[in-house]
Amino acid sequence: MLNLILFGPPGSGKGTQSQLLIERYGLIHVSTGELLRNEISAGTPLGNEAEQFIKKGQLVPDEVVIGMLSSVLEKHPHSKGYIFDGFPRTAAQSEALDKLLALRKTAITRVLSLEVPEDELVRRLLERGKTSGRADDANKEIISARITEYHNKTIPVADHYARVGKFKKVKGNGSIEETFELLCLEIDPLVSVTA
Ligand code: ADP
Repeated sequence: MLNLILFGPPGSGKGTQSQLLIERYGLIHVSTGELLRNEISAGTPLGNEAEQFIKKGQLVPDEVVIGMLSSVLEKHPHSKGYIFDGFPRTAAQSEALDKLLALRKTAITRVLSLEVPEDELVRRLLERGKTSGRADDANKEIISARITEYHNKTIPVADHYARVGKFKKVKGNGSIEETFELLCLEIDPLVSVTA
């Protein structure tokens, strides 16, 4: 299996690049942000709980997200692999993911980290907020809370995968096409190894 984590701060382009990558490599896209927004739209208890955190720019508690992730993996037992987008976002989530994959006799192949300067992130998120209907994109204070959460809680995930040699930075501030090409340059060699 080819299991990729698309890593990076809010606004770094993980969602956009995931859409392009799943087509090219035939992988399943797992975006915890999208799954949480679906739960919110459906008005489920999980969605109602998650919304209290998301609207403040805070991370949703680990047990909520990990439970959700585990059911996604169960739904696709025969997948060629996954692209995890916006997950794992804490050390506890990365440990849980490693265990869930090990139970399936697989593992994370590579973590690709989209590197984008902070002023560009804020610019992109505010721009997206004009059309996305996402309240957490429309407000500068919430955006800055999300970036702070990223620095405090999500950076340890990068360290975790760097220690095992699976972490790779990719320049993420070019055009969508340029970034996609850089990602493909990293992923193509992995496909022949994992096929
Ligand atoms: P972005 O990467 O632009 O912040 P996402 O759609 O990935 O957008 O996430 C939106 C919000 O959903 C986050 O700010 C957070 O509150 C919540 N969320 C998404 N994924 C996770 C996760 N793995 N752990 C905790 N909270 C999450």
